[in-house]
Amino acid sequence: AATRASAPCSLASSRDSSAGLSAYRVLVVGASGVGKSSLIGQFMTSEYLHAYDTSIDDESGERSVCVLLAGEESEITFLDSPPDNTVGEGCAHGYCVVYSTADRSSFLEAERRLQALWAGGHTARRAVILVGNKADLARSRAVNTDEGKTLATSYECKFIETSVGINHNVDELLVGLLTQIRLKQQHADR
Ligand code: GDP
Ligand code: MG
Repeated sequence: AATRASAPCSLASSRDSSAGLSAYRVLVVGASGVGKSSLIGQFMTSEYLHAYDTSIDDESGERSVCVLLAGEESEITFLDSPPDNTVGEGCAHGYCVVYSTADRSSFLEAERRLQALWAGGHTARRAVILVGNKADLARSRAVNTDEGKTLATSYECKFIETSVGINHNVDELLVGLLTQIRLKQQHADR
């Protein structure tokens, strides 16, 4: 714990002592209309992962889900698009930086967010995933898959294309996110 004293807040996962449950916070950021709220809503219904919604307060913009993955249950609380000036980046275990594959300006906004996370030193220590949503809108595609991959590689983060519309790769995103969070957390605990 002493080694983390200078951090803005502790990143140790909070554990519910009765259940032995790890709890993580994830910021979902990106331009308006790219599907952030839709993605979070879809996570809540992921039966494949035995995820279930544990949100208490719908007004707060926070949604929590319990996910059973690799025999271990974790609670993830998603914070939907906190404003730029209240990022609270030091307090999150993971980030989803979302753009729409049908909207180039949202891709540029995603690049700005990745740049800020990288410059702040967050990318090395936290799970960061670049998410190209709306992959179902093939005819209005404005950003190639390769451009997304290249951007993610240049900022040393993960990349996935999703579609909430046809439920493509949404479970995979949730699995990838939790897997990355657990890996980075193990590293931080050492
Ligand atoms: P937010 O502003 O980032 O929270 O975006 P929303 O979740 O409110 O979504 C904006 C609009 O995009 C809504 O009309 C959604 O139904 C739609 N949308 C979200 N995801 C997808 C997707 O994967 N494909 C398509 N075609 N539409 C989507
Ligand atoms: Mg929204």
